[in-house]
This record gives sequence, structure tokens and C-alpha cells, in this order.
Amino acid sequence: MPTITFREVTRRFPVKGGDFLALDRVGLDIADGEFVTVVGPSGCGKSTLLNIAAGLQEATGGEVTVDGEPVRGPAPERGVIFQQYALFPWMTVAANIEYGLKVRGVARAERRRRAREVIDLVGLGDFADALPKTLSGGMKQRCAIARAYAVDPKILLMDEPFGALDSLTRVRMQESLLETWSRDRRTVMFITHDVDEAVFLAGRVVVMAARPGRVHRIIPVGLPYPRTEEQRLSPAFAELRAQVWSAVHHQPASPEGIAS
Ligand code: ADP
Ligand code: MG
Repeated sequence: MPTITFREVTRRFPVKGGDFLALDRVGLDIADGEFVTVVGPSGCGKSTLLNIAAGLQEATGGEVTVDGEPVRGPAPERGVIFQQYALFPWMTVAANIEYGLKVRGVARAERRRRAREVIDLVGLGDFADALPKTLSGGMKQRCAIARAYAVDPKILLMDEPFGALDSLTRVRMQESLLETWSRDRRTVMFITHDVDEAVFLAGRVVVMAARPGRVHRIIPVGLPYPRTEEQRLSPAFAELRAQVWSAVHHQPASPEGIAS
């Protein structure tokens, strides 16, 4: 049974002169343990789709289910990571990570233990007592990822998490994310506007089209894990990159998303 199912997910926003159709009957199954990336032009509804899966926004039609259960709001089984790190600036790395456990009523000793574990996992072992402002962008994002991991979600929903990082840091973050994923096999839905990143990480790349937002193509990435630098430079990778690129950039003309 697929872990996340989008069934005819539709989202309209009321605008002057009618309704703006941000998502039009999006259907997608993400299997347990799968790593799916979502790419598409700006405004095609990627964030809206992820937010609906996170339970942070409601669909105006259709539904998202997780293991058959309709999503009705945020839940600890679904960890969400955004481009903005949203760390508490006055709290240390460890305190930021423990915070989510604290609000869930996890006892202090257990909080410490779990925080320590995920801090080591993301390679911030020497920075547990540092304040966010002393960290680089990549380290802040590691901290945000550790905070999501701490509550042990079954599913990770990531919205352009590496979008603000320089390209070298970004590549390192991709590698470390995959390394962790290969061990815990959480189900991941990862949004990006970077075609290279979409191919490197994914088992399948979902390409969306805009106006209205919908699934345009789903491209399976036949490359084995673990993904390596060699693979990134291989002809097979170049071929996939070209396929995804043209699916993103050559989309069929479609009617405007305004419907009255
Ligand atoms: P993406 O993440 O792919 O760039 P979004 O999901 O953020 O796209 O937005 C999809 C479309 O819906 C955009 O055209 C955006 O302007 C529109 N939209 C998003 N939120 C609202 C809102 N609250 N009111 C009106 N339009 C919105
Ligand atoms: Mg977005």
C-alpha cells in the first residue's frame, strides 16, 4: 500500500474576478520508503501540494491519505523542512532540536539522548552548544533537519530545503541526506527547482505544469543507490537531466488557471 496518496487534489484560491486554480486534480502515489522529487516552473503549486500533505493547508477538492488515513492536520509522523530554517535564535542547536520533543512531553533525559543522536547524525556534534547565528547556512539547515529527525517522522516533506545554499554545500547536503535515507528509508517528498538535484536524489521525478498546477510527467530514475559523483557525471545521468529539463521547459500550452 502506498504511504502517501494524492487523489484528485484540487486547490482554488479566491481572486478578483473568479477563482485561481492552483492545483487541478493532482493524483500521485508515493510508496513506503520511496524518495520522490517534485520539479516544475515557479507557481505551479509545488509548495501548495506539499503543504496540503503536511496538513498545513486544506485542499478544496480531493484528498491526501497516509496509509489510507485522510490527512486532517499536521502530525509528528510527517516532518516538514522548509528553505527558511526557522530556528529559535536564542536557543542553542541542542535546545532547538529538543524543543519539538519537549512540546510533545518527552522526558528530559530521553530528550537529551535523542537530540545527541540526531546532532551526531547530521554532523553537528561539535556545535551542540552553539547559537544559530554562529553557524553557516549549511549548518543551520542541518540543524533544521536534525530537529525534524528528532521526532522520528515516517515521512519527510521537504520544500526546497537546500535552495539558499551555495552549490558546493548543496551537493554535500544532498549526499548526506541520501546517506541517512539509505539507512532509515523514510518516505521522502522533496521539492526543488534544480533539475540536477531532482535527478540525483530521486527514485522518481514528478514534473509539474502550471496554470493550472498539475502533474505533467513522472520520470523514473533508473540509477542505483548509493548515488555517487561518478553517476552525476555519467552519460546516463546527463540523459535523465535532459529529459527532466525538457519536461520542465517545454510544457504544453494550457488555458489560464482562472475559472469563474
Ligand atoms: P510553487 O511552490 O510551485 O512556486 P505555490 O504552491 O507557492 O507554487 O503557488 C501556486 C500558485 O498559487 C501560485 O500562482 C500562487 O501565486 C498561488 N497562490 C498560493 N497561495 C495563494 C493564496 N493564499 N492566495 C492566492 N493565490 C495563491
Ligand atoms: Mg514553492
